[in-house]
Amino acid sequence: VRVAVDRSLCESNALCVGAAPAVFDLDDDDLLIVLDAQPSPDQQDRVRDAVGLCPKQALSITP
Ligand code: SF4
Repeated sequence: VRVAVDRSLCESNALCVGAAPAVFDLDDDDLLIVLDAQPSPDQQDRVRDAVGLCPKQALSITP
């Protein structure tokens, strides 16, 4: 899968970072960065949790 963030929607509350810290992080300006845009299968449950937790629907995953 591929994961992407729409930074125009993201409010930098770090919920996704908490769910999948190997995939998401906030930079020094509190902007979300995707550390791993094509997460390995062992990360994909966490990524789906992160997408579900995001209150802004800023995250998307594509097969
Ligand atoms: S959970 Fe959503 S709004 Fe919060 S930091 Fe992640 S992408 Fe941004």
